[in-house]
Amino acid sequence: MSDRLNQANIPASKFSAADTRGNETKSRRDVLRAGAGLVGAAAAAPMFSVGAQAQGDDGELSRVLEQRRILIKGGVVLSLDHQVGDFAQADVLIEDGKIREVRPSVATADAAVVDATNRIIIPGFIDTHHHFYQGILRNILANGLLNPDYQRDIAGTLTAAYQPADVYAGELVTALGMIDHGTTTAVDTSQVQHTPEHTDAGIRALQESGLRVVYAYSRGTGPAAQYPQDVMRLARTTFSSKDQLLTLALGANLDEGIFHAAREAGVPAVSHGVNNNTEPALFALDRAGLLKPGDEYIHCTHMSDAAWKLIKDSGGHVSLAVPIEMAMGHGLPPIQDALDHGIRPSLSSDVDVTMAQDPFTVMRAAFTLQRLGVLQRARAGAQNLPALLTCRDVLEFATIEGARACGLDHRIGSLTPGKRADLILVRADSFGMTPLNNPVGAFVYNAHPGLVDTILVDGKVVKRDGRLVGLDAARVRRLAVESRDDILRRADGQAGARLGGDWIPQAYEAVGA
Ligand SMILES: [Zn+2]
Repeated sequence: MSDRLNQANIPASKFSAADTRGNETKSRRDVLRAGAGLVGAAAAAPMFSVGAQAQGDDGELSRVLEQRRILIKGGVVLSLDHQVGDFAQADVLIEDGKIREVRPSVATADAAVVDATNRIIIPGFIDTHHHFYQGILRNILANGLLNPDYQRDIAGTLTAAYQPADVYAGELVTALGMIDHGTTTAVDTSQVQHTPEHTDAGIRALQESGLRVVYAYSRGTGPAAQYPQDVMRLARTTFSSKDQLLTLALGANLDEGIFHAAREAGVPAVSHGVNNNTEPALFALDRAGLLKPGDEYIHCTHMSDAAWKLIKDSGGHVSLAVPIEMAMGHGLPPIQDALDHGIRPSLSSDVDVTMAQDPFTVMRAAFTLQRLGVLQRARAGAQNLPALLTCRDVLEFATIEGARACGLDHRIGSLTPGKRADLILVRADSFGMTPLNNPVGAFVYNAHPGLVDTILVDGKVVKRDGRLVGLDAARVRRLAVESRDDILRRADGQAGARLGGDWIPQAYEAVGA
């Protein structure tokens, strides 16, 4: 348990395990560290610092990590930018983390080349709402409902048992899982800020992960919670620079005091659990002049026309967690309502305690649900029906609309020269993708996280040849399992009986796996 965290002992990095390897490893590590210095803006850049495992062609990877120019060559390009367009075969030139050119046959002498033959090059997914800290509780409530199961057992009992070490482990394993699946940006709505130490431990994990994150500082429980006023400390310190992977927002319910805090800190409000029951609070915030363009509203189930109009007119963005909303009882995902009111929604994965965070699943759920709704109306003889969503629509929801919801569409969300290079390469040569007849259709309907081959965040390679770069995976797994065990142990007795008592032994059995 020596590298367990506590409030006074947060390790410098998940990659800081003692180096017991030989000189060969050490020299390679030094190469990687040098590469990080050249390409990275983040001081820590721990993805590249220590403990990199032998991985593919080390020479090629080292070159890609060292060069300030990277040429991704010869892939199918889906830019998600109408001006740039798509290409059956083109190159993407990246310079100092920024997309410089997207076109066929880019010629450059001094770039590290990434071969994208038989790959689809596309912006990374943007997930606009996920409770990162719950990563260590994955699938623990596999068949549960929002009420009463989730509210009582997850938001209540198990969340209360979190210590800073557990926040660190949960945020870290979630962020790495997101990257692994092809998500390059996400909004973290972790309601576990029991103390500022909990907050700092979670932020540290996000910084180390290499993921781009909108950190929506949220509530906690207990006497030491500093929500929402601690958002001012975060705005002054960790988030004082805009030129970093982490940006700040305030996780909110529709409460005037919370919205005042968001406005005072100058950050967007990310409102969770918005639905027909919370409409009076939404209208009150409008009357108080507290709604601002760029605020995000999550779920938005069963709302009136007036509430939708207010969100639209105030410049708000909408996040729909389609699979979770259907499975856990939030209500009917309001894709059609949003579209009918002129809002293109973003997509989100929400909680890992039931369903996986796979962005392909979220995209396909949105596609099939909207079409089912329209086609059932057609079957019943309705006229003047809305347009059916296309695969490109839901791809935009999962990328550029996510960027807009994050207030980051000037930096990410499409392969546009001048934007930061957040992109993924997806294998198109698997038997499930061959032959490639419609790249957008193939990506939306047939691809899956296992085909995500290479990932760049902010121009840095964080996944190559199907593996995360420079990761001490065993240590991350150990931290996750230890924290999971600690939380269940602390919550046992309080929660065991109420939960039926059977999931805790099941979870413990899984430790040996
Ligand atoms: Zn949620």
